[in-house]
Order: sequence, then structure tokens, then C-alpha cells
Amino acid sequence: MTPYIPKKIFIEDAVKDLPLTRRVLSRCSSVPIEIIPRAKELIHASIGRLPRTDVLLLCRNKGRFIEPCPGTSSYLCCGYTILNTGTGCPLACSYCVLQAYLNNPFITLYVNLDEMWDEFAANGCMLQQETMRIGTGEYGDSLALEHLTDFIPSMLSFLGKQRNAVLELKTKTTHIEPLLGRDHGGKVIVSWSLNAEEIALSEEHRAALIAARIQAAGRLAAEGYRIGFHFDPLIAFPGWEQSYRRVVDMIASHIPDSSISWVSLGALRYMPQLKAISQQRFSASRIFTGEFVPGLDGKMRYFQPIRIELFARLAALLRAYSPDIFIYLCMESPLVWQQALGFAPSSNADLKRMLDERVKE
Ligand code: SF4
Repeated sequence: MTPYIPKKIFIEDAVKDLPLTRRVLSRCSSVPIEIIPRAKELIHASIGRLPRTDVLLLCRNKGRFIEPCPGTSSYLCCGYTILNTGTGCPLACSYCVLQAYLNNPFITLYVNLDEMWDEFAANGCMLQQETMRIGTGEYGDSLALEHLTDFIPSMLSFLGKQRNAVLELKTKTTHIEPLLGRDHGGKVIVSWSLNAEEIALSEEHRAALIAARIQAAGRLAAEGYRIGFHFDPLIAFPGWEQSYRRVVDMIASHIPDSSISWVSLGALRYMPQLKAISQQRFSASRIFTGEFVPGLDGKMRYFQPIRIELFARLAALLRAYSPDIFIYLCMESPLVWQQALGFAPSSNADLKRMLDERVKE
């Protein structure tokens, strides 16, 4: 797949000379740039606009780089730590929650990385006794901008000095070159979001083909990386079971199950305002035409029996390939866990413990 290059770059004046700004600009030498006094004013003037994946904004993160995943008190939550290096994503998935969640329409990179390292130091991460699962894939794709940022080498060097921190990179790309041949010390889990090939083709507009994602996972598994898969969002469409079966078969033929740390399952869910935004951007999409009900978190979801059927069938397919594979659900109640998977963590802490154990193996 072709690496992302923006058509325009806005740069906040205060960060124009920072090392990461210079690095990004050196890799986008023919892209027009505009220096702006403050990112905040540009973002305010753009609130309510549709996402602009062709525009990159380089600015300072004035908030926190490291934060606990917000989760939802009504559902089991896995105790993830988000590393917030930027927001927005060029891959243009019709169901992407970021379209409704972010009020900044631009692909944004926080270039004040010195402050990020200070924040890590202040968090005493090195001294933590507890496992810290850190992920960069919450507000964008972990590898989609790596060719511009070179973030991975410095992150690997940081992880090498930590006792208990591991990094999960979540992606729908095949941009694995920065990871090949590296000393990762078993501290990096590379996860691919997967879907039925039909859904990937019709809804994940600039993402890699499913077969290519799984082949990329196979190459990294061969280099000793831990691998994760996220079947999220599962979509109920005619023939879904056969289509998802083909994806599980592809995993089985490319990835040894001993390399897989976890597989998560999540069914399509969306903030009510997302539907209208998505329909303006992706008018051919049909995924929002089914029947949905509001969940305890206010997001629209399939009826519970449909969700349970999706999860239970996927779990059966995955367990046929590997009986001991660790499967967890994203944003579901203990009742749904029990009915779909046959077990449920007793608490958020219990789910966190289960996932932490998967990265210690
Ligand atoms: S890859 Fe993820 S972050 Fe990027 S557009 Fe798709 S759903 Fe959104």
C-alpha cells in the first residue's frame, strides 16, 4: 500500500524548529506548508467540518501524552494505557469513531516529544511493579505515519529500559519495515484489526487487503514479535459467518498460534452523530442500515442476541484453530461474555490481570 503523504501541512509557529517537525518536513519536501500562530485557532475555525485526511497539522500537545483508556463504567474494561502521539488517521474507514469523537478534522502529530519523555519519566514507569500495556492506536493507526515520524526506534530503546511496560501497535497497514530486524525484547505486540474481506473492501477505504495484513503479521511472528488481532467492528451481513471463517482460516495458515497474545471481538457500535457524518463521506456504505439500539454508554449497537451470536461463532472458529487462544470482548457486559465465550472476568482488574499475563508468557 502507498504510504500517506499529505497535500498540505500546517505548522504551529512554536514547534517549527523541533526535531520531529524537521524530520516530517524532510520527508514531505514537495508539500506546501503554512506556519500558523496557534493550532487552537485553526481547530476552532474548523469545528463541525468533515475530516480532512489530506491536511497534516504539526503542533504541541498541551494535554497529557499518557492517559488511562476512558472505557465505560457499564462494561468490562481492560486497563489499557493510551499513548497519545497525535489524532486522526488517513485510512478512511466508514465506521471510524474518530469522525464523531474528535473536533479536530486534521491529521495531527504532536511534535513536542521531549515533553512526552518527561511525562514518562514523571510517571515512574520504570519503577512500576504492575504491567503497563501502552497503545498508540486509540486515536489513529499506529503505523500509518511511521514513515514520516520514525517513532519506533526511540520507543524500542525506551522499552528496553523498562521492566514492565509493553507497547501494542494497532494497524490496518502493511508498513512493518521499521520493525524488521530490530531487537524488540518481546516488548512489542503488533496487532491487526481484521474484518471480512467484503467489509474491508467496501468500508476500509485506504487500508491494506486482509490477506496482506495477515501476511505482514506472519513476517513479524517469524521475527519473534507477539501478535494480536482485533475483529472489530464485527458486522452482521448476509454470509458473515462464511466470510469471517475465511479470515480465521487465513490466520491459521500463516500464524503459529503460539505467537498470538490475544484476539479481541467487538461488534459495530457508534455514537448516534456518527451515522450522518459517515453517510456524508461514504454514501455507498450500508452498514448502518440494520436495526440498532442504544447501549448503556449511549452508543448504538446491534441487539444483544445478534452480538452474542457474532461473538460465539467467531470464538468457535478461533478455538477450532487454537483451543487455548485468548479471546476477549470489547465493551461488553459480563452477561454477554458468559453467553458468548463461556466465561467472564469477575472485574476490570481481573480482565487486566488476564491480559497482563498474556504479555508475560
Ligand atoms: S484505521 Fe482505525 S483510526 Fe484509521 S480510519 Fe480506520 S478505524 Fe479510524
